[in-house]
Amino acid sequence: MSVFSALRCLLNQHKPKRREVTWDGRTYVGHCRHCGIAIERRRRGSWRKREDQARRQEEAPTPT
Ligand SMILES: [Zn+2]
Repeated sequence: MSVFSALRCLLNQHKPKRREVTWDGRTYVGHCRHCGIAIERRRRGSWRKREDQARRQEEAPTPT
């Protein structure tokens, strides 16, 4: 990891591992190749930290 890449991650500008990028039905998701966190594509070439996982779990139907 270069210092420059680490700075980008601190600014929430990540880069995905291309091989791990998948489509989740809404957007492209993957993991940052530099810091390893879960990220999603906001715009073309713009990847941000994924923040909707907790919300999604709340929305998920619970089996009864
Ligand atoms: Zn990162």
